[in-house]
Amino acid sequence: MKIQISNLGKTFEGNLKKNIPDTVAVSEFSINIEDGELVGLLGPSGCGKSTILYMISGLKEPTTGSVYFGDEDVTDLAPEKRGIGFVFQNYALYPHLNIYKNIAFPLEDTWIKTFKQEKKIIKFCTLFSLKDRFNEVIDLINNEKRINKKISKALVIDKISFLLNIPYSYAKFLYKYFLKKDFNLEIFVLFLKENIDKEKEKIKQKGFELDDEYYLLKDGNRVPYKRKINKDEIDLKVKEVAKIVKLEDYLYRKPSEISGGQQQRVAIARALIKSPKVLLLDEPLSNLDARLRLETREEIRRIQQETKITTIFVTHDQDEAMAICDKIVVLKKGKVEQIGAPQEVYDDPKNLFTAKFLGLPPIGVFYGKLKDGYLYLNNNKVLKVDSIEDKDVFIAIRPEGYKKANKDDEFSFSLYITKVISQGRDSEVLALNPNGNDSFKIMIRNEEKYSVGENYFKVKPNKLYVFDKVTQERIYLNEREK
Ligand code: ADP
Ligand code: MG
Repeated sequence: MKIQISNLGKTFEGNLKKNIPDTVAVSEFSINIEDGELVGLLGPSGCGKSTILYMISGLKEPTTGSVYFGDEDVTDLAPEKRGIGFVFQNYALYPHLNIYKNIAFPLEDTWIKTFKQEKKIIKFCTLFSLKDRFNEVIDLINNEKRINKKISKALVIDKISFLLNIPYSYAKFLYKYFLKKDFNLEIFVLFLKENIDKEKEKIKQKGFELDDEYYLLKDGNRVPYKRKINKDEIDLKVKEVAKIVKLEDYLYRKPSEISGGQQQRVAIARALIKSPKVLLLDEPLSNLDARLRLETREEIRRIQQETKITTIFVTHDQDEAMAICDKIVVLKKGKVEQIGAPQEVYDDPKNLFTAKFLGLPPIGVFYGKLKDGYLYLNNNKVLKVDSIEDKDVFIAIRPEGYKKANKDDEFSFSLYITKVISQGRDSEVLALNPNGNDSFKIMIRNEEKYSVGENYFKVKPNKLYVFDKVTQERIYLNEREK
């Protein structure tokens, strides 16, 4: 589903009596999201990320602007009519319900508009169409019993249900027959066929015909029918999403009996159960420890690519957004600073905020000036630039933007290294910020030797950015950069 958001804004009204001013949480937020894209909303706490997500979902009403899903204006549509799945930051699962029921929960009492079918004939026809796979089922039953004599009947039935992609009740039906002492496969298939014929006859007597998909026809037309979703349909759906999030083997445990990462996947499954057209994830990884966060973010990416659902993913962690998103939106105080592919925004930040927000270790920021066609870092010439107005600037250099130099080289400058940290493939050095008493990190290759003390460097021009000291907007140093 394509999403088009124009000029979205949200102001929370304050309360004069209580000295609470109005809060502009979001302003002039616009973005086009392509079908199937994974977009990351990225920014520090309080910058309006959740508010944007709530407005897209319809849980909060925007003060200005519009939201389109495809060609439909959904700005004023009720949340449950938008076809969204939402994973909240605190995705509380129901502790007393097992995983199966937690996932199924949003489906309960769902009304579906469909056409009349006869349940029995669907069952017999579905099973009949699977007759060539019955040997697999028999092997499965024998294997499971051999491996674990005590395995419960319900678990084996569940495995059959997953294997053939049929509801539990159908699988139970097969299981019951296959375990009979005098079971014979050919006779069973015949039995199914007879039942189909019997059911067809009954349907005929009621004055209906049957089409290829087992819908009843009256005068050649399907008969419209509104009803609650049934157990078999819920079962199929729960199993479909359980497979996607790899929770097949945990369905009958309570939330307290699975890991944090698995609980997170339950929350995602629950959001997927109604086949949403748009998936909204609000800091879904914030409750997980560092290792699980890495793993689970890859899982989210995989699930998103498998399901191809247009997804908006909120995080304050730039690394997370950079790792999995097709497109990131950098936000500051409710406003968009920059939108683009992660690498694009990293390589070409439009302002100091974005430059500082992306990248780990963070970019180093120094005072500098543009004068007579040169860029100065403190009093050192570090770069020749096209003629630009002389002014004071901020210089920001990525940690990988330095190379070793000699004292007498043109454009070299010295930094005081306080520590060399070897990290296997690469190393980092800590250098003192010439403008202050803090330090910053430089990434170096292992074959370049540095020692604590004065060292000389040159900058790699494509890893250096210059920003106006007042507006903090990027100043492009050369024509070709624009
Ligand atoms: P984020 O998710 O990026 O941390 P939020 O969208 O939750 O940020 O909040 C954005 C701003 O709106 C914050 O300044 C927050 O205090 C304010 N805010 C959020 N919800 C409300 C509310 N219901 N009433 C008043 N202010 C709110
Ligand atoms: Mg938030």
